[in-house]
Amino acid sequence: MLRVTAVKAREILDSRGFPTLEVDVELDDGSIGRASVPSGKSTGRREARELRDGDPARFGGQGVLSAVDHVQKVICAALQNARIPDQEMFDRTLIDLDGTADKRKLGANAILGCSLAFARAQATARRRSLVRHLADLYGDQALVFPVPMMNVINGGKHADSGISTQEFMLVPQGAANVAEAIRMGAQTYHVLQSLIAAKGYRVSVGDEGGFAPQLRSSAEALELLTAAIEQAGYSPGEDIALALDFAANDFYQAGSYGFEGHIWSADEMTDYCLEMASRFPIVSIEDGLAEDDWEGWVGHTQRLSAAGLQCVGDDIFVTNPTIFQTGIERGVANAILIKPNQIGTISETFATLRMAAQANYRTVVSHRSGETDDPFIADFALATSARQIKSGAPARGERVAKYNQLIRLQEEFPTAPLAKDLYSRRP
Ligand code: PGA
Ligand code: ZN
Repeated sequence: MLRVTAVKAREILDSRGFPTLEVDVELDDGSIGRASVPSGKSTGRREARELRDGDPARFGGQGVLSAVDHVQKVICAALQNARIPDQEMFDRTLIDLDGTADKRKLGANAILGCSLAFARAQATARRRSLVRHLADLYGDQALVFPVPMMNVINGGKHADSGISTQEFMLVPQGAANVAEAIRMGAQTYHVLQSLIAAKGYRVSVGDEGGFAPQLRSSAEALELLTAAIEQAGYSPGEDIALALDFAANDFYQAGSYGFEGHIWSADEMTDYCLEMASRFPIVSIEDGLAEDDWEGWVGHTQRLSAAGLQCVGDDIFVTNPTIFQTGIERGVANAILIKPNQIGTISETFATLRMAAQANYRTVVSHRSGETDDPFIADFALATSARQIKSGAPARGERVAKYNQLIRLQEEFPTAPLAKDLYSRRP
């Protein structure tokens, strides 16, 4: 059994220029694992708490030196020279050291950085690639590549485009393999850029690399996307479908949805989702309702499922096994977004994934809007056979880091298929 010899952390920058953590874990055979931590902007209220310094003199209060300190002092002291048999025990030690329900004491960012870095160090010690090591931990299974969901038009909190919908994604579900899917998405992204420019809109991009034009409505974005798919030479809904993330928390107020000039009930918001899905080749809708609208979600799920749509819960579940259990029991959503930093350790993320598999919920492994160049989630998605992966646009270094890793993984697993069980719908 290996011993942990050092745990180090440092403050680095994320893709928005805000500080985040990078952690190194060293084992006594010389193996070193390094990982960095992403950060969301449209966060769920019940996510594990990332620790920020609050010192206005540094990064407007966003510094993470206190989290760095917790890694170097508290976590390192507890783990140094300890014999840690596996990831489960490593994560359990961090959870117990913190002792709070939402990891606010040491910071979920401090804890996740250590959890990810330990996985990399252990993979090196075992002479396994990260994906094989993670697949061993998660359990033996035939690996399946996730279908990329590429966010190519940004709205909501991620851009100043003025559209309420946060994410408009291309889903190249008809591709022969993951590299082809990425190519199809990238080519369509470029056609979309020219269509947006031809309409006289700016082609600047939002936080996740998608375009952020000042469109009149979400429907206009969907028209542009469908046209881009066609002009790129693909069949909308077959080769490439569409997915939306409404991130509805952001426009939910006093029990109503303030969406692009309307004030809607949960039922009316669902009517709108279904109308868009009847007009455009949409296969998946994420957070169509807000995290506190549990009543609304039940009917929303039933109606979207009946229409053959994937209905993804992100902010409502926050990758938390306890909250997700309630969601399963109440019939909320038919798929779950998986963000390791919403819960804070690999082991807990695995627990949520296992529950999803048991309850027949599809899984979508996801980046955050604030990212680093660490491609961890690409290996993680393949190792757990997640059906889809969200990593933003096929542009900007921190986004393509994940897609490029999937291309490399395809070389390592040439016979692993692309997930083919997404809903196939035509408008
Ligand atoms: P966030 O958004 O990373 O800014 O929280 C991503 C999402 O809502 O899926
Ligand atoms: Zn979301």
